[in-house]
Amino acid sequence: MNSSQKTCQHSLHVSPAMWQQFRQAMLQARDDREEVIGFFFCDRHQISQRSIRYIPKAWVVPSPDCYEYQSASGLVLKQDFHRYLINTYLRQHRFHIVHVHTHSGRESPCFSSIDDRHESEYARFLSSRFKTTSRLISGVFDERLQQPKFRIWNRRGNAVDRVNFCSTWLGLPGENAIPKTGRFENSPPEIETPEIEEMFARQRLFGEGLQQQLGELSVALIGCGGIGAIFAEMLGRLGVKQWTLVDGDRIETVNLNRMPAATPKMAAGRWHKVQYVKSLIKRIYATGSRVKAIPATLEDALQDPATRREIAAADLIVVATDNHRSRQIAQEFALEYMRPLLCLGTHLEVKPDGIPRAYCRITVPPLGGGWCLMCGNIINLQRAALESAPPELDGLARRAGYLDGVGDPSVFWLNGICASTAVGIVQGIVGGFLSVDAGLDWIYDFPHSNWLKTNPEYLATPDCYFCSAEVGV
Ligand SMILES: [Zn+2]
Ligand SMILES: [Zn+2]
Repeated sequence: MNSSQKTCQHSLHVSPAMWQQFRQAMLQARDDREEVIGFFFCDRHQISQRSIRYIPKAWVVPSPDCYEYQSASGLVLKQDFHRYLINTYLRQHRFHIVHVHTHSGRESPCFSSIDDRHESEYARFLSSRFKTTSRLISGVFDERLQQPKFRIWNRRGNAVDRVNFCSTWLGLPGENAIPKTGRFENSPPEIETPEIEEMFARQRLFGEGLQQQLGELSVALIGCGGIGAIFAEMLGRLGVKQWTLVDGDRIETVNLNRMPAATPKMAAGRWHKVQYVKSLIKRIYATGSRVKAIPATLEDALQDPATRREIAAADLIVVATDNHRSRQIAQEFALEYMRPLLCLGTHLEVKPDGIPRAYCRITVPPLGGGWCLMCGNIINLQRAALESAPPELDGLARRAGYLDGVGDPSVFWLNGICASTAVGIVQGIVGGFLSVDAGLDWIYDFPHSNWLKTNPEYLATPDCYFCSAEVGV
């Protein structure tokens, strides 16, 4: 079998929660019969010219009564059931279809010649029925569903391309183990200068794998103000070199109390905040870093298709803005493209007794839904709506006391607690010692100096307008 000529990186990214359900259903089905098949139905996102991501929106593991017959030599679904799948997921939703089956044994499986023949036929069946859409992706696992191989068929059914399968939060291979190889088998090895290697000598105890993963991680930072700048400085120092920065604001004198290395000259020169954070990263890495600065609000930035792709391609989206509207947009975008999202914020007030109360909050909604910033009440939708209102309405809202007339109070040390804890969380996720599969919501309360951790189970909202987008089965 040939590999198709245009080399494109395909990846299939299943959210940890969906993967857990699917795997459980497959294992259960295997208990009854030896041979089983499961399906994912996917949206397709063209991330760049050479990179395509498939994101499942629904899954099906047929029960025994859906089969015409089931045996080790083959599986045939009942025609009615197959027609139902095709009509629901391919005709109505125009999804791409993923066939998953297992081979007995625990070693890494290979596609058999029977698989080749059946799948090739199926790929041709699809192109005869659907002129422009619906490709076949197929996957084979060992009997414990731990070791995958995935491929995508061309429409003529005579060539395949390898598909990267990931079911972890960031989608990094070996995210939960110390990795031995790079991100993709065909990506060139990182060539580090001796200075860069020496720079990370004091964090080598975390393993070479972590350093490599961080070096390959790309982060889209929305909001380059008081929290975002510290976050970028710290995560940059930890080893992250690929950044997309989005913020429409410029540095002002009132920002100088909390932005590391920002100067009155920058304020006088009306530097864009993205330009300033870019300079922070470039100060760490004179070479070898890639920083794209987009001086626009997130809402405006996402109007540009190239920027959308750029942010959708990031491994992680971090939102550290000072308003609810942009957080809502970031969450909706993260759900649409199934991107990991980290949300940072602080709040500072002085009580009538004169004692300041300070809070910082770090929220990581689960990948692909379950709960989100909106249904978890992490952001306030009413405020988000007011923030997006035209200026006249904004004035009315201010007079009615819905919005503050001045910027929120803010100090470096509090932003620092927020940003540094968030950087620790990123290290924990990449290093595999912190699971955020169920989501995470931590609130720091000062001067009590308590970390309050919301139980993510309480946040789960099955019928959220924003995040329960999974197509019903
Ligand atoms: Zn097989
Ligand atoms: Zn939600």
